[in-house]
Amino acid sequence: MFRMKITFLGTSAMLPTKERNPNAIFISCNNEGILIDCAEGTQRQLRYAGISPTKVTKLLITHWHGDHVLGIPGLMQSLGASNYTKKLEIYGPKGSKNFFKNMMNGLAFKSRIKYELKEIENKKFFENDDFYLEAENVKHSITCLSYNLIEKDKLKINIDYTKKFNLIRHPLLGELQRGKDIVYQGKKIKVKDATIVKKGKKISFILDTYYDKKLVSIAKNADLLICESTWIERDKLIDKEHLSAKDSSLLAKRAKVKRLILTHFSQRYKNLDEMLKEAKKEFNNVELAQDLMNLEI
Ligand SMILES: [Zn+2]
Ligand SMILES: [Zn+2]
Repeated sequence: MFRMKITFLGTSAMLPTKERNPNAIFISCNNEGILIDCAEGTQRQLRYAGISPTKVTKLLITHWHGDHVLGIPGLMQSLGASNYTKKLEIYGPKGSKNFFKNMMNGLAFKSRIKYELKEIENKKFFENDDFYLEAENVKHSITCLSYNLIEKDKLKINIDYTKKFNLIRHPLLGELQRGKDIVYQGKKIKVKDATIVKKGKKISFILDTYYDKKLVSIAKNADLLICESTWIERDKLIDKEHLSAKDSSLLAKRAKVKRLILTHFSQRYKNLDEMLKEAKKEFNNVELAQDLMNLEI
């Protein structure tokens, strides 16, 4: 069965605060451990969350601003010291190979683990039986990616229907679930009658960006949108390359998502009540992320 658990490892923009680490989100789903961004301090946050860093199978980088990537060398080094036998798959926007090389060249570092870094843009870049991952460029001061994790639709057996044929606990049910019509005791049983489609969930991750119509199509109909909300609208004049709570909640409304979680907050706010209030004006099913907050999907 496909189960997904999301852990927020860092929810601050730009600077760490006493309460919040900069950005990183860990998603555990079946055999995969997906880390979206790896800010400074992410390893420690993983420890606090009770997640072994060796669980990470994929590192998805949104962009190369420090508050999203400064933890990468430390993570690589720790995996090398931890008997990590997998090949770490790293994905990032165009230019990532160069940034990565330069970052590692700044250290007396020799990788003791296998890894492969792929530069991606606007496409599906990973797929297994349960889900797929896609990336799309968003507008920020440097090249930046949003990510979607999309669970595949599954066919469930409609037992009320199949028991009419006395077809219970039979290997042929597996064929139906794989989408193939079958013949049982001379009778044809069609997939469309004998199964029910269980729609897969869509989770969208939109980090640093300014508001753009394209975001609506990226997050369209998502079951959950995790979205940056650096500012309260009145402060956005300082820097327009990030979203405000008003932007993020309008995006959620326009994209018809079911649930919105805001993250990546400016350290100027000691209290986020006004942030939440601003978001609720546009979209009611919204909450604020906190470091080490977990949710199961
Ligand atoms: Zn950022
Ligand atoms: Zn940024």
